[in-house]
Amino acid sequence: MDLLNTLVDKGLRRELPSREEALAVLATSDDELLDVVAAAGKVRRQWFGRRVKLNYLVNLKSGLCPEDCSYCSQRLGSKAEILKYTWLKPDEASKAAAAGVAGGAKRVCLVASGRGPTDRDVDRVSETIGAIKEQNEGVEVCACLGLLSEGQAERLRGAGADAYNHNLNTSEGTYGDITTTHTYADRVDTVQKAHAAGLSACSGLIAGMGESDEDLVDVVYSLRELDPDSVPVNFLIPFEGTPLAKEWNLTPQRCLRILAMVRFVCPDVEVRIAGGREVHLRSMQPLALHLANSIFLGDYLTSEGQAGKADLDMITDAGFEVEGTDQVTLPEHRGGPCGSEAEAACGSGAHAACGSGAGSACGSGGGCGSHEEAAKSPVAEVPEARTDLVAVRRRGAGTDLAPNA
Ligand code: SF4
Repeated sequence: MDLLNTLVDKGLRRELPSREEALAVLATSDDELLDVVAAAGKVRRQWFGRRVKLNYLVNLKSGLCPEDCSYCSQRLGSKAEILKYTWLKPDEASKAAAAGVAGGAKRVCLVASGRGPTDRDVDRVSETIGAIKEQNEGVEVCACLGLLSEGQAERLRGAGADAYNHNLNTSEGTYGDITTTHTYADRVDTVQKAHAAGLSACSGLIAGMGESDEDLVDVVYSLRELDPDSVPVNFLIPFEGTPLAKEWNLTPQRCLRILAMVRFVCPDVEVRIAGGREVHLRSMQPLALHLANSIFLGDYLTSEGQAGKADLDMITDAGFEVEGTDQVTLPEHRGGPCGSEAEAACGSGAHAACGSGAGSACGSGGGCGSHEEAAKSPVAEVPEARTDLVAVRRRGAGTDLAPNA
């Protein structure tokens, strides 16, 4: 296909594809899907080889958020029966983080629900970062605490945070349909604050909220402009008890097309498969490793992922390798903290939804107002509502049970 040859050439040169080309990737047929994966896989291998970076989520504070993000199981008015607890103590968080590191994670993502941290919250998280860094040599720490006020990014950086995650989630044009308590501009501002403070910016999206292909391309182009080091791609987990509970819009094939499009638009950036991987990609997860170079190990913020051991087996079986702490994530030309192993840090992100997780888990759902146009796919895909695959997290942080890592 001329389209794919063009996109590979551009990806290898780090050249921005046209919007039409990005849209064309989303419009490919199932017959063309393996060719799309193979083409985007060439770009992925050029910049990241066969390495897979593992990240581990620690939900520092779960539920009871005053914000109304429709996709999030922790939102105001959520009826989702998730774990609800206030700030973990530094040693509790460090213990959870250590389980992820022992399982192979290179980065720990500290996430807290809420609109944004108070200065006291920044103190707490700073203490937690200190405890984690002291007990886990070489680990990268990403904070995901919501909207940042002046000076907070600098304080987190000073406390040893390597990265900050705050997702754009969806296009500017539809942002008001999924959240009314803060704006798209608020989110952009926080990503810029993190960047300006020397934190590695991590910012991504949530697919499957009823958005159009144009919306998806819009948000990915906006992300490219913001230039984060990592882009988490969440696939909406339609949690019962949230407004988006009925939004089952994704098939494994569509998820693969979305990841390929993100890879072509952001060729040399850490593309991370975040929340919804198991629920929506299902048995196609290994193919997605040819597109993304990073995943979360184990569980998400409010939902359970597959066993950490299954993640590791999948990586090996698919012919990839877990990225070690002695390996640098980003290509040399991107420099920054990720440029040196010592600092390693960059990467990731998710605050994903802020809240929920990084992609985690946010829940999401339905309702987003104007999304009636929903994703138009080239083939008649009829997504199934796989509620049987959604399990609320009942282990790890905030419980007495061992974490999944
Ligand atoms: S995504 Fe973050 S800010 Fe929005 S409701 Fe969830 S926890 Fe709150």
